[in-house]
Amino acid sequence: MRRVYLDNNATTPIHPGLYSELKPFFEDLFGNPSSIHWAGKAVRDKLEEARSILAMFIGAKENEIIFTGSGTESSNLAIKGVALANRDRGNHIITTQVEHPCVLNTLRYLESKGFEVTYLPVDRKGQLDPDDVKRAIRKDTILITVMYANNETGTVLPIGEIGNIAKEKGIYFHSDMVQALGKVKLDLKDLKVDLASFSGHKTYAPKGIGFLYVRDGTKNIHPIIHGGHQERGLRAGTENTIGIVAMGLVASNLAEEIDLCINKMENLRRKIISGLIQSLDGITLNGDQENRLPNTINVSFEGINASSLVSLLDGYGIAVSSGAACRAKEASFSHVLQAMGLPPSVVMGAIRISVGRYNTDEEIDYAIPLIVKAVKTIRED
Ligand SMILES: *Cc1c(COP(=O)(O)O)cnc(C)c1O
Repeated sequence: MRRVYLDNNATTPIHPGLYSELKPFFEDLFGNPSSIHWAGKAVRDKLEEARSILAMFIGAKENEIIFTGSGTESSNLAIKGVALANRDRGNHIITTQVEHPCVLNTLRYLESKGFEVTYLPVDRKGQLDPDDVKRAIRKDTILITVMYANNETGTVLPIGEIGNIAKEKGIYFHSDMVQALGKVKLDLKDLKVDLASFSGHKTYAPKGIGFLYVRDGTKNIHPIIHGGHQERGLRAGTENTIGIVAMGLVASNLAEEIDLCINKMENLRRKIISGLIQSLDGITLNGDQENRLPNTINVSFEGINASSLVSLLDGYGIAVSSGAACRAKEASFSHVLQAMGLPPSVVMGAIRISVGRYNTDEEIDYAIPLIVKAVKTIRED
């Protein structure tokens, strides 16, 4: 059976050619990047080259990139790192109700340790009002954490405005930018963000590697992993050199082709939406349809239970998701769509279709009739 992968917000396929480019790291390039001899130096050079490519790709400086083990770890480091180091200044943190679990559950943990957290609501489109952020600020607010783009709906939040508010008040600002990398042109110089989380595997690199952007001059962050002096003392442990080099290779290619990739994903997304609307009634598109990622569709089908649809489509070889992958096994419904105030029938019937740069028009032409067929089959039952 033919397979089509349309779940690129859960993880992406690996960039073609990475395997052979990384082969030397399974052979001669085995050194520890902290060693001063030839074996270490050869690997350290490659690691620093990757750091500089990644920095350039997001409009940052080399010393602003701290390699971690994942997007999740990056957010843990940013949030716990700031909270624990700045407790003498206050213990209030502001976030939104639609963050990824790596932010929400980190904050829940901090609440159990005495921190207070304000979870701001969003509107029907999943948008956050920057004035709500302003109003939530207290004397003891130390950190604001708001994602750049939502992983379930693709809604892009007003990070620029929130950054200005945070900067004016002298409050740390962290943003989970995992879903933005490779889907929008990022320039961290222009955003008043102090800390930003990134992950390799959402952008064509392997799993188990990520990085945290820490703006130059940002002080008072405690490490959460203690040990050696790697990554300027912020993340102990010998670096995942293969993962880091992989991210660098992906970024250097993406930097050249970013406009092409964005256009392509945008076109595929539009093609899917018009294909579905042409053949089906009772469709609702969830999320902000203007300020959004080019690749993500969150769509509800009236009278359909999303998990039956995802299973039936899986049977046809089409991989999509009902809500976020991390929650797919739980019986609960999307906290994001619920926070948007959507009726239960819309929340229950929502699937996420997320395309990537390696999907083709031909794949989409093949998948659309199968999605239509699956919806009709379930509706006829
Ligand atoms: C996937 C994802 C993460 C977690 O990244 P991992 O590298 O899988 O830990 C964090 N935030 C968002 C928005 C994501 O989509």
